[in-house]
Amino acid sequence: MNEIPSITAASPEQPSPVQPSPEQQVAFDKKAVNLLGLDRGALEAFFESIGEKKFRATQVMKWIHQLGVTDFQEMNNLSKDLRNRLAENSCIQNLHVTKDMLSADGTRKWLLQLQDGNHIEAVFIPEDDRGTLCVSSQVGCALDCSFCSTGRQGFNRNLRTDEIISQVWLASHLLEEEKKPGRKITNVVMMGMGEPLLNFDNTVSAVRIMMDDFAYGLSKRRVTVSTAGVVPAMDRLGDVIDMRLAVSLHATNDKLRDELVPVNKKYPLKELMAACRRFIDKQNTRSRITFEYVMLDGVNDQPEHARELIKLLKGIPTLMNLIPFNPFEGSGYQTSSRNAVMRFSEILHNAGITTVVRKTRGEDIDAACGQLAGKIEDKSRRHRRFAEPRFGMK
Ligand code: SAH
Repeated sequence: MNEIPSITAASPEQPSPVQPSPEQQVAFDKKAVNLLGLDRGALEAFFESIGEKKFRATQVMKWIHQLGVTDFQEMNNLSKDLRNRLAENSCIQNLHVTKDMLSADGTRKWLLQLQDGNHIEAVFIPEDDRGTLCVSSQVGCALDCSFCSTGRQGFNRNLRTDEIISQVWLASHLLEEEKKPGRKITNVVMMGMGEPLLNFDNTVSAVRIMMDDFAYGLSKRRVTVSTAGVVPAMDRLGDVIDMRLAVSLHATNDKLRDELVPVNKKYPLKELMAACRRFIDKQNTRSRITFEYVMLDGVNDQPEHARELIKLLKGIPTLMNLIPFNPFEGSGYQTSSRNAVMRFSEILHNAGITTVVRKTRGEDIDAACGQLAGKIEDKSRRHRRFAEPRFGMK
């Protein structure tokens, strides 16, 4: 992409960039390494590079991620000399919380500012038996799925590992401050803004930190990376790390998927489903793949689509997540009726596919799927396409 759009452009909903505080400025000016973004291997290498023993890595990880300490001077199992050297060579730098919003249903969303002035969002979704944090992996997104408002921003840049992990750090510590039961992160889903598999290395490092016992200690079943279907990266992911995979399917034939999820033109359904099978084969655990399927009225929600879906998923251990479409201005789509969703879900269920209909959460704070940082200027040319009749619409 030649021109990289910025998402901080004017909109009443989007605050103007806030300058980093003087302390932040100092840390950034020193171009110090941000320890927040180093996974165990990288942190061990860092300590060796400054002539220290590797085991310092786990000590410091505990301080940062479990105890929430960002001031080296508080790390009292390190010598004074080491604390001073760390302060000189490194920093522990979080994102700036620009907005902190709480929904009537308990969902909490943060608008977070990056050093370059861009914004991303993270959302905490409490449920009876778990607390899920939805994390962003990129500023904007390049994939331009036709029903997703993030795609309209265009792609700006990948998040660094520290910027991904800062979302987890901030959320876990801000939730802790609430001092209320049930407000703890038990699961992380990389289902916020962006396509994590197009930011592969930083996503993998971030997932490693989420799962590290000296950091967030989440089990491999509680960390999910969601992809629109970047097939070669799915293969690489299966080779390097064991966690849950979610695939945004949304259509059951190439013609429709090419339109809804344009990356399908590059990696069509046959290749995508084959990659899912390979992924399952590589996993040690008896894991399933979560498939996400946004229900668009009259587009992909008919019984014949459900039957196509059953054929497509044959032999793949599946958790099917039906997501009622969250409308946004100018999307050109409508949410499927309750009846259509129930009928669709029943057909899948009768075929033995575990199917859940995802509840829409945090609507009053625009925290639902596909709405993150949504109310900004349309940077894509998609709105022009909507002027013409499109395949599959009623
Ligand atoms: N790029 C990755 C990660 C984003 S996950 C992926 O596509 O999987 C966000 C999920 O919300 C995806 O399944 C996406 O397709 C879905 N989504 C996007 N816009 C939506 C909307 N308006 N309503 C409901 N779901 C939406």
